[in-house]
Amino acid sequence: MTSTKNDTTNEQPTITDLLDQLDNDPENRNNLPDELNLLPLREVVIFPVLVAPLGVGRENSVKLVNASVVGGNRLIGVATLRDPSVENPTLDDIYPVGTVVAIRMMGQTSEGIRLIVQGLSRFRVLEAIQTTPYLRVRIETIPEPEIPQDKDTAMEIEALRRQIGNLFKRAVSLSPELPDEMQGLVNNVEDPRTLTDLIAGQTPRLTTPERQEILETIDIQARMTKLMELLAREVQVLELGSKLESQVSTELGKSQREYYLREQMKAIQKELGEGDDRTQELEELKEKIEAAKMPEEALKEANRELDRLSRMNPAAPEYTVSRTYIDWLVALPWAVFTEDNLDISAVKEVLDADHTGLDKVKDRILEFLAVRKFKTAGTMRQPILCFVGPPGVGKTSLGKSIAHAMGRKFIRISLGGIRDEAEIRGHRRTYIGSLPGQIIQGIRRAGSNNPLFMLDEIDKVAADFRGDPSSALLEVLDPEQNNSFRDHYLEVPFDLSKVLFITTANILDTILPPLRDRMEIIEIAGYTEEEKVAIAKQHLVPKQIAEHGIEGRIEFTDEALTQIVRFYTREAGVRNLEREIATICRKATRAFAENKLESLVVTADQVTEYLGVPRLDIEEAVHRASQPGVAIGLVWTPVGGDIIFIEATAMPGEKGFNLTGQLGDVMRESAQAALSYIRGHIEDIQAPVDFYQKHDIHIHVPAGSIPKDGPSAGVTMVTALASLFSERPVKPLLAMTGEITLSGKVLPIGGVKEKVLAARRAGINTVILPERNRKDLLEDVPEEVRKELKIEYVSTIEEVLRLALEPAPTAANDVSTNKPKKIKSDAAAVA
Ligand code: ADP
Repeated sequence: MTSTKNDTTNEQPTITDLLDQLDNDPENRNNLPDELNLLPLREVVIFPVLVAPLGVGRENSVKLVNASVVGGNRLIGVATLRDPSVENPTLDDIYPVGTVVAIRMMGQTSEGIRLIVQGLSRFRVLEAIQTTPYLRVRIETIPEPEIPQDKDTAMEIEALRRQIGNLFKRAVSLSPELPDEMQGLVNNVEDPRTLTDLIAGQTPRLTTPERQEILETIDIQARMTKLMELLAREVQVLELGSKLESQVSTELGKSQREYYLREQMKAIQKELGEGDDRTQELEELKEKIEAAKMPEEALKEANRELDRLSRMNPAAPEYTVSRTYIDWLVALPWAVFTEDNLDISAVKEVLDADHTGLDKVKDRILEFLAVRKFKTAGTMRQPILCFVGPPGVGKTSLGKSIAHAMGRKFIRISLGGIRDEAEIRGHRRTYIGSLPGQIIQGIRRAGSNNPLFMLDEIDKVAADFRGDPSSALLEVLDPEQNNSFRDHYLEVPFDLSKVLFITTANILDTILPPLRDRMEIIEIAGYTEEEKVAIAKQHLVPKQIAEHGIEGRIEFTDEALTQIVRFYTREAGVRNLEREIATICRKATRAFAENKLESLVVTADQVTEYLGVPRLDIEEAVHRASQPGVAIGLVWTPVGGDIIFIEATAMPGEKGFNLTGQLGDVMRESAQAALSYIRGHIEDIQAPVDFYQKHDIHIHVPAGSIPKDGPSAGVTMVTALASLFSERPVKPLLAMTGEITLSGKVLPIGGVKEKVLAARRAGINTVILPERNRKDLLEDVPEEVRKELKIEYVSTIEEVLRLALEPAPTAANDVSTNKPKKIKSDAAAVA
């Protein structure tokens, strides 16, 4: 705090002090410096000639005072803050007119330092010449105005002086704060300028802006008139107060007395212009509470809080807390809802118009809504929809479409990384600055009590010591409980049962099981190249063209879109695709604006021109996989399918086996199984029989920062090892996936569609799949993809190796010499 108050009774300057200082015109008064350290004041205005105490607590202000006293001239500028709550004020926060003061005395207190200062002259701030650690400003002192000598004006001033004097005397006699001797001021101070300033500084209950206005009023008649008006008001209030007081002081019951005191407070507040606002504020809140149509429990709580609020001092911190709480209660859509449009065919139209393809998904959504339509009549019990799929496949935009089609508000929060129950359910009001949790905040933003509420990344909710957010989520999502959801902050229940919750996730596996049980899973896998081109044509391109305002001037050919999809994006969804299209639109817009182009048809060539030469993943794949010991696997990741390289190397040693690349337990186990299988079939793969006895084996799965797990890399591990042991490289552009058993069987795996699409994206031409996944492929993978890839179905490891490995080198005999001919160093393998 910069300063506190200057009217602490025990430090009130005595009348003698005040009079004393007037006799001896303070030194330097007419010879003040034009640069000063500027101390901002809170709710205090210091006038010239007045002596006043000041408390200084803020660290930078203490520095300022010390610098001005030690080695300084003890002169500083003081000026008042426009808004007393500002913490680190800049020049803009401070009134431009202040007072040069001399520091007369300085003492240490527990809260900082205490000063006695004396005002010398008004000044105006010209500019800041230093802002840290404290303000230093260039100033212009404002001399006191000459008193006009003509008779009329002089008389007018004298009349004002007397009027002010009388009002002040009256105020002193009525006011408990002012000692009676203050009346002496009026008789002893002749100069009307000095008298006005002194009284303006002494009169209690003038507001800061009022005092500041007097400080800023230089013209003497104007200054006196202003003060007279304020004094008249003050006297009126005091008179009213004493009238009430005398009534009250007659023997009255406690409650009556309180009533009168309250009336008195109201009257005073009203006189001060505050009461109006205050009563009006309370009235408004009361109306809002009624208008919000809360259920009984909430209404009771709101009224109780309002009652508390009406008895609080608006300056107290609890006032804001209480006020904020009522604001929250009245802002919630207790009784506001939107009418549902459950016409299934209309919803279908909107979904179709907004999204290309996704037929299965749309059907599931429509079924879900149809069921809901019939259930609304009876119970509301229904599972929550959960869209699972990689980023950019349209989960969010489907949600928006559904909301749009049903005529509901749409609201979305991300649960990613939420660890604390309070983020869902809010903090108790006892915490400073506490707020309701995300759910209630979302409902408030939605402005209706039946929005479509999307909870993103429900697979990324984690639990830790701060509490388990999933239990709060369970309550939110449980139709049995969510009609009386209790937020810690609100304390009263809110009915969430009409909300349509839809969750989204990238991975199914990490959704906590109890949550998963509540949900109806709808999987949205990645798109094929053709689907992406279609989406681009029908949605992304028109959207970007409209956003750039270049309708009719640009066109994309199918080849161009295919080119972007194939060579510039590697993703399951269409986010990057949209981004690349936006890049081209942006560059074209610029060319149009610079008149370099009239219109543009984007062809494959233009794509290269605008986006640069594409990276060629295929070359890399061929190159890396040409070494014996390297095989390409297909994996499923939360962001879609991908290819991985599994690299096996051997170095002289003895049966060591090392695995690196952040592999999970299941993947490590399948590596062990692969090794055991190879050791058991060493002759079948035409490798030296004692190869393992003489070597240490190291399997590395690059991109080490990404944790990898799952059994589906089994076939790839076994192939990499067989390739290493036998020195037969794996055929180029071939990738595989499948779980293995020790007995040499190949078992089916999940995520077939994602993996096959990833293989095609990466330019793979042959894919080895478990026989038992044949059905998935036919069901899930579109024909055009199947046509372009050669798919080999296998049931045994033997078949995998036969299909995957190049024939044994012609000098196969060398193998029997037991001498490892080409051992790659570890570093080379990883590079
Ligand atoms: P997600 O929520 O799955 O990460 P978004 O909903 O944010 O994905 O989709 C990314 C962008 O792709 C959006 O602009 C969306 O409209 C568009 N999009 C995705 N799939 C389709 C589709 N099938 N048809 C039309 N636009 C789509």
